[in-house]
Amino acid sequence: MKIITDENCVGYSSPGHPERPARIRMALEKLRSQKELPIEWVRPAPPNDQAIRRAHTAEHLARLRIPHDFDADTAYHQHIADFARQSVAAALEALKCARAGETVFSLMRPPGHHATQDRAMGFCYLNSVAIAALEATATGAKRVGVFDFDVHHGNGTEAILLDQPGTAFFSIHQYPCYPGTGTANVGKNCFNYPVAPHTPREAYRKVLARALDDLKKMKPDLVALSAGFDAYVRDPIAQETLETEDFHWLGQELRKLGVPMFSLLEGGYSDDLPELILAFLKGVSGS
Ligand SMILES: [Zn+2]
Repeated sequence: MKIITDENCVGYSSPGHPERPARIRMALEKLRSQKELPIEWVRPAPPNDQAIRRAHTAEHLARLRIPHDFDADTAYHQHIADFARQSVAAALEALKCARAGETVFSLMRPPGHHATQDRAMGFCYLNSVAIAALEATATGAKRVGVFDFDVHHGNGTEAILLDQPGTAFFSIHQYPCYPGTGTANVGKNCFNYPVAPHTPREAYRKVLARALDDLKKMKPDLVALSAGFDAYVRDPIAQETLETEDFHWLGQELRKLGVPMFSLLEGGYSDDLPELILAFLKGVSGS
């Protein structure tokens, strides 16, 4: 199992914000001290601006360097464009590892799945998973499935991948919830699975299983995962019910697809995030 991380990603924060440096610090501590899952630690490759420009406008890239907040949830931070570019770089390294047959997870912040072509929002600045999916199709992948199990709709990924040849997007998320989209399928390739707040975990798993079946039917040659852990029962910013073992189960089910796959950390704000990540990684790596 490879984990791509760069400890510098803890270098920005807003007081009281749920997307906080401790998410990564705690996860690093847990993953480094555990003995059940052998881990090889990898650093991100240098940022690839050509890949970023496939997903984002030049105006957006310039805006990321202007010191004004993007919205009430998404602050401007000094060097935030560079933090976001490092997160993208880790995603592209994860893609490379997946293609080399490795099981791989990118443990970075900021997350990306809410960022659209021209807008930072929902704690996200650059859409790492969409950038990696477009890089994959530009470099030979025929069918890339992006599976987003973060509890929030991946509106940015949907906007960027909408009707992009060779890609399909599957998002399982709470609705109503931020950002308020994802109630129906969109275009030819974006599939949404809204779930009501407080849905019992058995029912939530059934929706995940249905989305997995749809992903399978697409016969992907590569799968990118927006791995958010905020559908967890004790997450402070959503109202779903999954337990630690459900993330392990999900990892196992994804492993059964038997195709090259890479995961990128999106959300997950409870103090149990390290355990949830570890459970998921054990599932995807078959332990
Ligand atoms: Zn989320």
